Formats: sequence, structure tokens, C-alpha cells
Amino acid sequence: SNIILERQSPEYVLSRIRAGVLEQGMVDLLRKAGVAERMDAEGLVHDGFELVFAGKRQHIDLKQLTGGRTVMIYGQTEVTRDLMTARNAAGCETFYNVENVSPQDLKTDRPCVTFEKNGETVHLECDYIAGCDGFHGVARQSIPAEALKIFERVYPFGWLGVLADTPPVNDELVYAAHERGFALCSMRSPTRTRYYLQVGAQEKV
Ligand SMILES: Cc1cc2nc3c(=O)[nH]c(=O)nc-3n(C[C@H](O)[C@H](O)[C@H](O)COP(=O)(O)OP(=O)(O)OC[C@H]3O[C@@H](n4cnc5c(N)ncnc54)[C@H](O)[C@@H]3O)c2cc1C
Repeated sequence: SNIILERQSPEYVLSRIRAGVLEQGMVDLLRKAGVAERMDAEGLVHDGFELVFAGKRQHIDLKQLTGGRTVMIYGQTEVTRDLMTARNAAGCETFYNVENVSPQDLKTDRPCVTFEKNGETVHLECDYIAGCDGFHGVARQSIPAEALKIFERVYPFGWLGVLADTPPVNDELVYAAHERGFALCSMRSPTRTRYYLQVGAQEKV
């Protein structure tokens, strides 16, 4: 069996807003895994997008240029919700609100994880440990330095993301390059807009 250890509560995980566009590979994978019912009912399929540069709009026909591939507007949080529902239905175990997760004996055939739940320490013996706890997680810090290979590209800017309950400005996404920086007009639904604006990496809002 497989077990997930999650530091946050289910409510917290389901209120975390992140990415919103699924490319064809992920859409195919979710369908193959049998967890695409809500995505196919509620997601918006986009055949293309627009690029704006030097003040001109250029439509890119993704579907025609790629032999029928499209993108799906469906929030990462919604994918997470669907996967959580499917895990529950399959009887797989997820421990939420766990603390002090610590992967150990990683260079042996019997790695293990210890963690705390409701003040009690739990010891889990594993065949494999998948460290899927994100950039700030404990997994990457636990990998022995000599085995760690880091691929990283640091950009000198960040994104200000705005989520607004207002209809999108365009039917498709608009990616705009401007002398003052990049802007993206994205969306989550026909009534919910997502904007990204380039800002300095150190700027705080
Ligand atoms: C605001 C925002 C907008 C984004 N927009 C886009 C986008 O438009 N397009 C795009 O491609 N990407 C986007 N991303 C990036 C994308 O969300 C991440 O790349 C993706 O979530 C990484 O997935 P992951 O499974 O590696 O980690 P995560 O999704 O971060 O999952 C890791 C999980 O591990 C848990 N965890 C962390 N530490 C511990 C611990 N010590 N013990 C137990 N559990 C722990 C976390 O609570 C979390 O649930 C965005 C990210 C943010 C923050």
C-alpha cells in the first residue's frame, strides 16, 4: 500500500490557489487514471492563445500547429481535490497535520520515515520513499549531499498573481511582453479571472 504524509490539513490544501492550465500530457494522464470526470465536465478546452508584443496581437492556433493538441483550463487545486476524492474511494491512507516528518536510512534497502501525529511518534518502514513535498519540504534536505544533483535556474523577477471574480478579458489566454515587463491574462472559469504581472523579485505586496 502507499501512504501520504501531509503537513497541512485537507481544508488548507484545498484552499491553496496555484496553477490553472493543464497541458495535453497531463490531461491524457488524468483520463487514463480514471480521475478526469469533473475536469471534462467543468474544464475549458482552449485551442490556442494570443501573444502580444510590440503592441500587436498574434493568435497562435495550438490545435492546428500541433496536430490536434489543446490545453485545459482547470485549476491545480481542483486536480488535487479530484485526486483526494479518488484516494478516499480507493481506501488509500493519507495522514494530514503530521509534524516533524523525517526520512531516514535512505541509502539502505529499508528506508523509513518517522513523523508525529497528535503528539505521538510514528515509525514507518518503507520499500520506497517519494519525496514530493515541494521546494521547501524536508525531502530534498534529507538526500545525502553527495547524491544530490540540483538543476536550478534563478530569474531576477517574480509574479504578482491576482484572482478576481470578473469575466476574462478574452476567450483565450493572452501573454503580453511589454517594455515594463510581462503580463498574463489567464482565467479559471468564464466568470473568474487570473492575472499575473511581472514584479521585482524582492518586492512584497
Ligand atoms: C501562487 C502560485 C502559482 C503557481 N502557478 C503556476 C502556474 O500557473 N503554472 C505552473 O506550471 N506552476 C505554477 N505554480 C507552481 C506549481 O504550483 C508547483 O510547481 C507545484 O505545486 C509543485 O508540485 P509538488 O507536488 O512538487 O509540490 P507541492 O504542490 O508544493 O506539494 C508539496 C506538499 O507537501 C507538503 N509538505 C511540505 N513540507 C512538508 C513536510 N515537511 N512534511 C509533510 N508535508 C510537507 C505541502 O503542504 C504540500 O501539500 C504556482 C505556484 C504558486 C505558489
